[in-house]
Amino acid sequence: MTAHPDPTAPSDQREPEPTDAEIFYCATHPKVETGLRCGRCDTPICPRCLVMTPVGARCRECARLKPLPMFVAGPSHYALAIVAGLGVAALGSIALLFLPPFGFLTLLLYAGFGLAVGEAVSRATNRKRAKGIAVVAACCAGIGSLAVAVAMLGPAFGLIGAILAAVVAWGRVR
Ligand SMILES: [Zn+2]
Ligand SMILES: [Zn+2]
Repeated sequence: MTAHPDPTAPSDQREPEPTDAEIFYCATHPKVETGLRCGRCDTPICPRCLVMTPVGARCRECARLKPLPMFVAGPSHYALAIVAGLGVAALGSIALLFLPPFGFLTLLLYAGFGLAVGEAVSRATNRKRAKGIAVVAACCAGIGSLAVAVAMLGPAFGLIGAILAAVVAWGRVR
């Protein structure tokens, strides 16, 4: 003999209240109804006050609080990064032309090349640690050294040298 509990027994579960139909008034425009809230401080905001950020809807106050400026680079920073990177890469490849290849250790020159390009880009951009800036540095170092590296070391080692320069430059900025 088994006694099952009655499965039809009434439970106190209720239908969840719909919360998305909530209406409140904008904090800055008390006459404007809205269903939006700032994702950071929960202030009610109307579409006019809403500022779309990469991390969601924000009120104007919160949108002004930008991420650390160290990680944000503007177009002028990219321009400076490219100029500095290409400039040093050009000077560096001329310098490499005058240096005799000395076997395997020549690769160290390319690491130094990458370091110089990375350092120049880093300084020109006020030490921004943005990903895009690191890409610029890596491209300038890699592409800038490739022709000279291939001419000096042959295609295989040349490519390794250029990649080494790019990786070192990337690491210097990132
Ligand atoms: Zn807010
Ligand atoms: Zn508003």
